[in-house]
Amino acid sequence: MANPKKKTTKSRKGMRQWKEKISSPNLVECPHCHHLVLPHHVCPYCGYYNGRPVIVVEKKKKKEKAA
Ligand SMILES: [Zn+2]
Repeated sequence: MANPKKKTTKSRKGMRQWKEKISSPNLVECPHCHHLVLPHHVCPYCGYYNGRPVIVVEKKKKKEKAA
């Protein structure tokens, strides 16, 4: 039976896996408002999914307080 010859240390495992953590999430353009959104998710900007409104999005409350 095939066995690894040496134990994989925490250091070596970390060196192998560091690049998996820094990859950015895949983004697609919302067909309704053209923001970049996560695929297969309701758009957080307009509340549309699959061409119809799913949730009601409250508009720009935080930006009005800051400005
Ligand atoms: Zn949208």
